[in-house]
Amino acid sequence: MNDNQILQCNLAAFGSCTKYGPDGKLGDAFYKSVKLFKSKIMKHVNPTGAIDDNVRSAIHDMISNLNPFKLKCKCGECEGFGHGSMLDQYRDGKPHIEAYCQYEYPYISHMTIGAAAGIIAMYPDETWEISSGYRCHIDNKQHGRTSTNHMGKAIDLRPVSIPFNNRAEYCDNIRNELVSLSTFQDGWSESNKLALEPSRIAPTWVHLDCRQFDHKWIIETARV
Ligand SMILES: [Zn+2]
Ligand SMILES: [Zn+2]
Repeated sequence: MNDNQILQCNLAAFGSCTKYGPDGKLGDAFYKSVKLFKSKIMKHVNPTGAIDDNVRSAIHDMISNLNPFKLKCKCGECEGFGHGSMLDQYRDGKPHIEAYCQYEYPYISHMTIGAAAGIIAMYPDETWEISSGYRCHIDNKQHGRTSTNHMGKAIDLRPVSIPFNNRAEYCDNIRNELVSLSTFQDGWSESNKLALEPSRIAPTWVHLDCRQFDHKWIIETARV
């Protein structure tokens, strides 16, 4: 990834990768995302799309808030991000789309990492716990799961300071707000847009992923 692509991934929650992916070209979508970042996070009134040192340092702070150690797989057998197994393999009898891609990407996509950091920064009064980061095939076996979303594409955030009985409503509100910004979708119907797992699957936490992005963008961005 070049510097522009890293910048696009870092601002993913604000729409910088929407439509074209992190292609390194800083066009309209990117400058719109800078404006949204400056208004939401830096509290600028009437922001422009320009980036100066203050903006760069605010972006840096936002990303640094996400502890990379917490993203690691908990299986106890891999080093934290799988074994790179099953490249180009898909679940038997299923279409060759990302939902069925069996590949253990070597890291979590920086689009997903940027998106998670962005959500945490948008709701700074909440205490967020990364309830699921990377989950490799061994971890899936240990828990009887088949989903491969967490093999480099997804992160789950749990709002732990909200009383449990209020979390579903709280997470629904957050999903609605993120969808209304047009930077996330609820479910997986659109290409090249970040996705939120619907509340029927993820009621009391916020699951976000980049699985609707073109495979090449996930390959390029899911690296250390
Ligand atoms: Zn593992
Ligand atoms: Zn999840």
